[in-house]
Amino acid sequence: MKIIIGNWKMNGNAEMLDEMVSNLAAVNTENRVILCVPATLLRPGTGAVMIGAQNVSKYESGAHTGDISANLVSATGASVTLVGHSECREAQHDTNADVARRAELALNNDIMPIICVGETATERENGKIHEIIERGVRESIPHNATNGGFIIAYEPRWAIGTGITASGDEIANAHKIIRSILNEMGFDETPVLYGGSVTAINSAEIMKIDHVDGVLVGGASLKKDDFIPIITSIK
Ligand code: PEP
Repeated sequence: MKIIIGNWKMNGNAEMLDEMVSNLAAVNTENRVILCVPATLLRPGTGAVMIGAQNVSKYESGAHTGDISANLVSATGASVTLVGHSECREAQHDTNADVARRAELALNNDIMPIICVGETATERENGKIHEIIERGVRESIPHNATNGGFIIAYEPRWAIGTGITASGDEIANAHKIIRSILNEMGFDETPVLYGGSVTAINSAEIMKIDHVDGVLVGGASLKKDDFIPIITSIK
């Protein structure tokens, strides 16, 4: 079983979600599908699709106007959340420690965190991929994480929403590094996903790369005609 996550970012509405959920129910797949939707659309998942948030607050509650706590996300019936997505890391100036705190609170509220890590274009140019990934993984996993109770998504920031996908070698290299760190930390059952301009054209090839347990899809998860072929291309 592979994992395919859609990230709707700040797009979509209730009607689109109803339609996507009913279309996904008709897809014949063994894969686990998760849709991370805007906070106003959060709801319980179905047999065919788990519904997730795109972030949770690093605070439990209190005077944090506009923020949404893991507890509030849990109350909607949603069961998953992204944390540390590069767009959030950038907008909220999150450190790895902030991401770990968000993931910790998610786990405390029975929400499975999908922890995103990845280098910027400049870090890549400066040969820092290994260092950024290693620190991202080691420092963003919270102390209450359990083996298989969270997901890591490797998302090179320069590949997100750009139409530029990392090469097979780059993905293989990053996933090998992440897999060995996770194994060493005792998280050998924690899946590692690739994200960054995944489409139905490249999804099957990406999935053949060693240590790739699934994909995180942004733009191509919004329309059924783009998203469903990705799900069915992955065996
Ligand atoms: C994302 O939002 O996590 C993402 C990978 O976006 P895209 O597929 O559009 O690059």
